[in-house]
Amino acid sequence: MTTQEKLNGSVMGTYGRFPVVLEQGSNNICTDENGKSYIDFGSGIGTSSLGYCNDAWVEAVCKQAKSLQHTSNLYYTKVQADFAEAICKQTGYSKLFFCNSGAEANECAIKLARKYSFDKYGKGRHTIITLVNSFHGRTMCTLSATGQDVFHNYFFPFVEGFRYAEANNIDDLKSKIDDTVCAVMMEYVQGEGGVNALDKSFVDAVYEICAEKDILVMADEVQTGVGRTGTFLAGEQFGHKADVTTLAKGIAGGLPMGACLANEKCAGVLDKGSHGSTFGGNPVCCAAGLAVLSTVTSEGFLEEVQKKAAYIREKLNTMEGIRSVSGLGLMIGIELENKTALDVVNAALEQGLLLLTAKTKVRLLPPLNITYDEIDKGLAILAEVLK
Ligand SMILES: *Cc1c(COP(=O)(O)O)cnc(C)c1O
Repeated sequence: MTTQEKLNGSVMGTYGRFPVVLEQGSNNICTDENGKSYIDFGSGIGTSSLGYCNDAWVEAVCKQAKSLQHTSNLYYTKVQADFAEAICKQTGYSKLFFCNSGAEANECAIKLARKYSFDKYGKGRHTIITLVNSFHGRTMCTLSATGQDVFHNYFFPFVEGFRYAEANNIDDLKSKIDDTVCAVMMEYVQGEGGVNALDKSFVDAVYEICAEKDILVMADEVQTGVGRTGTFLAGEQFGHKADVTTLAKGIAGGLPMGACLANEKCAGVLDKGSHGSTFGGNPVCCAAGLAVLSTVTSEGFLEEVQKKAAYIREKLNTMEGIRSVSGLGLMIGIELENKTALDVVNAALEQGLLLLTAKTKVRLLPPLNITYDEIDKGLAILAEVLK
C-alpha cells in the first residue's frame, strides 16, 4: 500500500492533497519519497518562515525538548516568560495570551472583545463586525466570523453576533455599526480571500469610527504577522496599532503556536479562569518562537524581506501570462491571464516548485530567508509554466 492510500484510508478526507509524499527538507528545498526536490514558495502556508530545519531553530527546539517538553499553565517556565516579553517588547503590546493556532488566537480575541464590552457596558453590546471575503478560522466561532457564505453551511446553528461589512467600503461599514457593536476584526491583507490589501483610507476610517464609539479594532495578523509583509506587523505599514492583534502561522517557524496580543486598555480583560489552553505557550513552541523572533528582528532582516519582495514583484510584473500582482511584502497574489490557478500549481509541482492558491489567484508565501538563487530558480519554473 502506498503512503497516499494508507493515509486516505485512515485520515478524514477534508483536504485536497497534491499527490506528493514529502520526506525531508533543508533550507528552502524539500524532497519527496522518490528523491525529487522542490523549491518551496509556500512555506507550509506561511508557517515555516525560516524554511526547513533552519540551524538556529533546530538547535533551540532540540535543546528545549531535551530539558522540558511541556508543563501545564499551572506552573511557570522561563522560556514562556522570555518569549512573551520579547513579543510584547517588539510589538508594543502590554500582554498576550498563548494558544496553538490562528483560529484559537481569534477565538481569544472575540472572547476578549465581548468581555471588554460586558465589563464596561453590560449585556447586549456583543456584535463583532468582520469583512466580506475575510478568513478567520475553522472553529464554530471563527467560521461565523469568516465573511464568506461558503463557510456558513452544514454546521448550523452557528455562533451568533457577527455582521459583515464590505472591505474598502466605509459607508457600508458605517451602516453596520449600531449600539450592539463591540469590535471590528479585519486582516490588513486578506490572505485566503485572494491576497488583497485593504486601502489605507479605509483602515484609517475604521480606526477613526471605532475610536469615537469605544469599539475595539482587532487585527487578524495570523498570516500577515511576524515579518511576512516586510515589517514585523503589517499594521506598521498602515500606521496603526490595533487594540488586539492575533498571530499564528509563521510565529514559531512551523510548530503550532498562536498568540492574542492586547494593548493596555484590554490587557486585563481576560482574568483568572476566563480563558485557558492546555498546550498554549508550550515550552518547545516558545523556544521555536524565540528563535524565529530573534532572526526576524535581527539587524537588516526585515529590510532584506522588503528587497526580496520588490525583486520578486518586479520579475512577476514582466512575466507572460500574468494580469496583476497583489498583496504586501512576501505575501504575493498573482492574477492570471488565461490559465487557472490550480492548473499552474499542478504544472509547477511537476517541475519541482511548490505554490499555493488563494481563490482564483496563485499565491506565494516563500520563506522569509529565501535566497536570491532559490527565488531565481523558482521564478524560472513559474515563467516556464505560465508560457
Ligand atoms: C490561516 C488563518 C487563520 C486560521 O489559522 P489556523 O492556524 O488554521 O487556525 C486565521 N486567520 C487568518 C488571517 C489566516 O490566514
